[in-house]
Amino acid sequence: MKKTLLSLAAFMLLGASAVAQRTILHCGTFIDVSKGTTQSQVSIIVEGRKITAVEAGYTAPKGSDKVIDLKAKTVMPGLTDMHVHIEGETSKDQLIKRYQFNQADVAFEAVRNAKVTLLAGFTSVRDLGGSGVNIALRNAINKGVVQGPRIYTAGRTIATTGGHGDPTNALSENYTPDPTMLSGIINSPEEGRKAVRQRYKEGSDCIKITATGGVLSIAKNGKAPQFTDEEIKAVVETAKDYGFHVAAHAHGAEGIKRAARAGVTTIEHGTFMDDEAIEIMKKNGTYLVATILAGKTVADSAKVPGYYHPLVVPKALETGPLIQNMFAKAYKAGVKIAFGTDSGVSLHGLNAYEFQYMVEAGMPAMEAIQSATVVPAKILGVEKDLGSLEAGKLADIIATDGNPLQDIKLMRKVSFVMKDGVVYKQ
Ligand SMILES: [Zn+2]
Repeated sequence: MKKTLLSLAAFMLLGASAVAQRTILHCGTFIDVSKGTTQSQVSIIVEGRKITAVEAGYTAPKGSDKVIDLKAKTVMPGLTDMHVHIEGETSKDQLIKRYQFNQADVAFEAVRNAKVTLLAGFTSVRDLGGSGVNIALRNAINKGVVQGPRIYTAGRTIATTGGHGDPTNALSENYTPDPTMLSGIINSPEEGRKAVRQRYKEGSDCIKITATGGVLSIAKNGKAPQFTDEEIKAVVETAKDYGFHVAAHAHGAEGIKRAARAGVTTIEHGTFMDDEAIEIMKKNGTYLVATILAGKTVADSAKVPGYYHPLVVPKALETGPLIQNMFAKAYKAGVKIAFGTDSGVSLHGLNAYEFQYMVEAGMPAMEAIQSATVVPAKILGVEKDLGSLEAGKLADIIATDGNPLQDIKLMRKVSFVMKDGVVYKQ
């Protein structure tokens, strides 16, 4: 009896491996982001989570092979948005929600935001700041509990007292004790080091600092530096020890320079970048994540009476419209670019508008797509698994109706999404 059961189990195992299903994607147009070229009539073979082959022509199915017909579509790697805030989304009552929402409320909204982002073709995101729900959400998505993009998260932002990211700005002192580095507020290199270690302890994947003031914080100045050189250096050095890269929110030129000199990997926004800042970024290989979409969104919302706090309105009107021109100048000067939108500041799922704004500012469509595929994979240190469609990599694959290299607006029409070999949209 025991023997029969064992051989039955062995047979079932053999049977399972013999019928391991292959999925063959017949791609009308295929974007090779590594080479910056396109090919027509290509087949991608997917087994389990991985791409096992990319073949010229339409490979015929054998046995139990399943075919997905993408012959009328343009196929490319799943996209990565390097700057989102998955936990929240812009609304007129966003400030009041701080009093009303518990973590569970934040979590349910985050689940919705994650799904919308995935279905827009963004199979990975870098989350640059929230309450810690972003870490739990990453874990839940990785376990398959809920659907969403791969999340690489900074956890909580690291800021200075009163700075962009101080969660107690503008709140009554009756409700808010002086925040500590536990909630991300530091005021010395020592506290900077401890905050990085705290992020490590909580399970962050990278570090985010707010090197200058910001548009949406309830504070007057949106560009002045808010970290000293020593504080940024301490954060960057400690981050390195833990294998983290550092993203620095920075609008004003001085803060951009301090952050780039200290060795942060990406500058977020970069609005008031001057020629010297451009040179420092080029010299240090610092990437710009411009978030043009965020700039346009806040400038529009600031015109709606009462949408933002009165301290925010003039900053949004001044800063927002400048970002696209700054991007054009930085790109032309040779600053490295990575794709990012600050979604959450805008509605989730509209991330692909950024492509259009980048192309309008002079970046070729192919480079814009590369900035959301190969480039992020490199920054995130996952280029062995993600970023391009090659044998051995994970099957994160999307397709658009029509060819976005001819009309970049088509990036908004993602009609097929596969992540980890699983189809989420077809
Ligand atoms: Zn942001």
